[in-house]
Amino acid sequence: MNAVYCTILTIGDELLIGQTIDTNSAWMAQQLNPLGIQIKRRVAVGDVRIDMLEAMQEELQRTDILLITGGLGPTNDDITKGVLCEFFNTKLITDAATDSWVREIFEKRNRPILQINLDQALVPEKALVLPNKVGTAPGLLFTQEQKTIVAMPGVPFEMQYLMTEHVIPYLKEKYQTPNFLHRTVVTSGEGESFIATRLIEFEAALPDNIKLAYLPKLGVVKLRLTGREVSETSLNALFVDLIRRLGPIVVSTQDEDLEYTISRILHEQGKTLALAESCTGGAIASLFTAIKGASTIFKGSAVTYRNEVKKTLLDVTSIDDMNQTTVSENLAKEMAEQVRLKMKADYGLGIVGYLEKHDHDNSVWVAVSTAEKTVTKHFYTYYDRSKNIIFASTMALNFLLKQVEA
Ligand code: ATP
Repeated sequence: MNAVYCTILTIGDELLIGQTIDTNSAWMAQQLNPLGIQIKRRVAVGDVRIDMLEAMQEELQRTDILLITGGLGPTNDDITKGVLCEFFNTKLITDAATDSWVREIFEKRNRPILQINLDQALVPEKALVLPNKVGTAPGLLFTQEQKTIVAMPGVPFEMQYLMTEHVIPYLKEKYQTPNFLHRTVVTSGEGESFIATRLIEFEAALPDNIKLAYLPKLGVVKLRLTGREVSETSLNALFVDLIRRLGPIVVSTQDEDLEYTISRILHEQGKTLALAESCTGGAIASLFTAIKGASTIFKGSAVTYRNEVKKTLLDVTSIDDMNQTTVSENLAKEMAEQVRLKMKADYGLGIVGYLEKHDHDNSVWVAVSTAEKTVTKHFYTYYDRSKNIIFASTMALNFLLKQVEA
């Protein structure tokens, strides 16, 4: 089966100067990858007619699908519709359905409607109009021989709506794509270069249709095996071998972040969690609260930064000097125990550490407490403050996962 290629073309001066980060391309690529559609290129151009025309011309020579975002709006710098008309040799006409939709939105909001709002209903005559129920600019779909060209608004949630409701179903129907299977393992405790050295033989023996990708984040490296036109059984056999070689650094065999794995396990166990965070300042709590239904397992977090607060809120005893920052194994232990008791949770986690080097090292202590025992772990952080918070949170979650799995 032939590969199906897609180019993503993002339009906007703000993307070129870095004022807006192009998150649209990443999101679209993430949606297309599992469908077996291969991303050929990701291109960004400014709001400049000739650059847009040249990019479209060039990309359509090497791709089957061209997805465009940006510049569909009503302001003067939004020239995508005019450029599409020029490219496809067509003219703008009023789309009756979009016209009533735009009028309806403004009536509902009780706001006066301007000509530039009504102009959203002007669409290239040759385009198939994709209704946009979360905005005013519709998506525009063109075909050229077997190729598909779609223009969507730049606003991320509008583009995502159009992709999900219209574009992905259309592409699934039109293109036969090779079957891709993925298996992901999450590791923690070793950097990607160390892991890669251990996996030299494994990688060298992989057949051409199976690839191994390294996806490193602070404190965690995900490894993804992707098989093209491969059976589930043979991919699984390789996956089992991979896990065996990785040994104790494996923290999960599912493609999910640590807090999701922990929540899932706690949910299955019917257990709850309470946090006492010092150096992470609530960062761990925010990971749990981002999970839908978190309240079944997550009790809360006491962000106790200064010594006096650790003492008054958590009644810890292992602090001598109220005016200093204390980082010690005992303190982490007490925080974990006290927060577990005070919040009436099954697991308590306490974390204290220095986020920057001064006259001490970047030392962090984390403790996990249950009714049976309290265990601790020590590690160092290596980055700047904001990265150290992410790193320390990940290390703490990793340690917590080991305890809830035990
Ligand atoms: P609208 O109908 O709202 O005018 P539009 O198609 O004209 O939509 P733009 O004006 O290009 O879109 O961008 C609208 C908003 O979306 C801007 O805030 C812009 O920063 C953001 N945006 C545009 N392109 C991207 C992108 N590739 N990634 C993330 N955000 C983007």
